[in-house]
Amino acid sequence: QAKTQGRGRFSFFSNEMNVVAQERLALEAALREALAHNQLMLHYQPQIDMKTEQIYGVEALARWYHPVFGEISPARFIPLAEECGLIGELGHWALHEACKQLGDWRKRGLNVPMVSVNLSPTNFHNLHLPQMIMNTLAENSLSPKDLTLEITENVLLDTNPSTMKTLLEIHENGSRLSMDDFGSGYSSLNYLRKLPVSELKLDKSFVDDIEHDEASKALSYAALCIGESLQLTVIAEGIEKDGQYSILQKQGYHAAQGFLFSKPLPPASLEAWLVEQKNKETTPQSIAV
Ligand code: C2E
Ligand code: MG
Ligand code: MG
Ligand code: MG
Repeated sequence: QAKTQGRGRFSFFSNEMNVVAQERLALEAALREALAHNQLMLHYQPQIDMKTEQIYGVEALARWYHPVFGEISPARFIPLAEECGLIGELGHWALHEACKQLGDWRKRGLNVPMVSVNLSPTNFHNLHLPQMIMNTLAENSLSPKDLTLEITENVLLDTNPSTMKTLLEIHENGSRLSMDDFGSGYSSLNYLRKLPVSELKLDKSFVDDIEHDEASKALSYAALCIGESLQLTVIAEGIEKDGQYSILQKQGYHAAQGFLFSKPLPPASLEAWLVEQKNKETTPQSIAV
């Protein structure tokens, strides 16, 4: 009895694993194809300067819509790209695409001060990355300060000897590095001494409960103080409510990002959003707000 049950369970798991493995292989092939045929997209989420309430920049976020599998979340395809050796290519694509888009907006007179691109730890193994970035910026008539690169604490768990050299060179060239998901990882504050970052990005998890949880509120303030004491810009992400925004604004946060202002948008919709913001500024109703 127990034996048959055991066997039954075993075959159940092995079928299950087969399905997962096959699905993964199919997705990997599809991602390879999508990258080769330029089928990924970037959406752009506005970031707001909390002092001026003007646009501070936009974060570029990768999107993949597959004709058969449908919409696949970056939470799924970014780790997949990392595991199957496609993350280098994806990083290059995102940098080129974001710079091309910003260059295009500038040419058309749209005020987008900066674009922020997410890179994975592996992207910094490439010693050619800093030069590639400089070339891409120049091709699109952009300057280094027009580009921010978002990194996570994981870059320091990484022992690749090129990483620190690459990060320093990017910083020295004048582009900004932003510590994404700040406060969510396992690292100690030690990495802030080592990494040439210009910006801290408070993790959404601190913002979520900030209205009701004193500890979240205290920690978001502590993060701001850490950033300010190192002369860094501090931005909060995942802001969905007015109440969250006003607490962070009172604490002295420099910039804000979240659904409260806008979801990540395809380029044309972001342009419409920019125009709408401009109209709000010039219409008399906004004075009362
Ligand atoms: P992230 O860099 O921390 O990006 C912020 C994520 O939070 C985005 O999810 C964004 O859509 C979402 N978000 C922004 N505001 C709000 C809000 O108010 N509420 C909620 N619930 N969510 C909000 P997304 O686009 O699904 O991206 C997930 C993660 O995937 C990103 O986290 C980033 O780590 C990674 N990722 C996305 N695009 C790229 C890329 O081009 N390259 C690399 N290496 N990673 C990327
Ligand atoms: Mg990010
Ligand atoms: Mg983040
Ligand atoms: Mg994240």
